[in-house]
Amino acid sequence: MSIRLENVSYSYGEKQAIKNVSLDIKYGEFIAIIGHIGSGKSTIIQLLNGLKIPTKGSVYFDGKEITKKDYKKGKLIEKVSIVFQYPEQQLFEKTVIKDVCYGLINKELSEEEGLERAKKALKIVKIDESDYYSSPFELSGGQKRRVAIAGVLAMDLDVIVLDEPTAGLDPIGKNDILSMLKDLNQNRNKTIVLVSHDMNDVCEYADRVIAINQGEIVFDDTPKEVFKNKKELEAMGIKLPEANMLLRNLKDKGFLVDTSLINIDETVEEIFDYLTVRRGLNEKS
Ligand code: ADP
Ligand code: MG
Repeated sequence: MSIRLENVSYSYGEKQAIKNVSLDIKYGEFIAIIGHIGSGKSTIIQLLNGLKIPTKGSVYFDGKEITKKDYKKGKLIEKVSIVFQYPEQQLFEKTVIKDVCYGLINKELSEEEGLERAKKALKIVKIDESDYYSSPFELSGGQKRRVAIAGVLAMDLDVIVLDEPTAGLDPIGKNDILSMLKDLNQNRNKTIVLVSHDMNDVCEYADRVIAINQGEIVFDDTPKEVFKNKKELEAMGIKLPEANMLLRNLKDKGFLVDTSLINIDETVEEIFDYLTVRRGLNEKS
């Protein structure tokens, strides 16, 4: 079971935003899409659920070509949901609860069942009950994002695509959302596709990283493999995760640490090991 883009290009008029991209997303993956502003991240994710139809190339969903005219688009929408970059693109109902229920309208659910699912989703994203009947537009930026995510969670689809969901959130709000996504991925088998500009988050959460530059995929591998390419990434306007930068700086100063590590925990272990076991051994010899 997978989503596959095959030699896909997409243009906005004259502007070619995606160039000959091929990509396979399997169920259960936690993927991060990274790239500089304007590299094509938002465009590529809208090709994953049929919201945008390629100018060239094909998109397959579970082996069926959705770019063919006879494919029923409804089926796709039942599999992939997108949380857009700006909550204002997503929210529109008069109250928070109505907004979260909106995606359930076409499902065969009673009003009560719908409400129950909406409330469950709002609890997961930690929206207080006292806000259920407020206008979503009166909430703070962070709260708006949470409501937009709740709307997608309530729909309970297999694949959840999120376009920079933590932009503008404080560190606690950000961790809340990312650990919630990890939990959905690990314990409820949701496929997560996360567009992110924060390489620290990417390294802590994703199993696979797709780096795009000017509409083309440059790297598609595990985070550890992708972040070995310091020069190429920096040329694309992508920073390395801080833990990895720290190890590289130490190495430059003559400390023989492993510079392939990218996570904070691994980095702490490595420095601890270096300062205790390895340096101890060096001093003795
Ligand atoms: P990202 O999400 O990585 O910032 P986008 O997918 O939004 O990138 O944009 C990719 C390219 O397509 C950019 O050069 C952008 O200016 C262009 N683009 C995006 N949306 C439109 C649009 N509606 N009309 C014309 N050009 C667009
Ligand atoms: Mg974008």
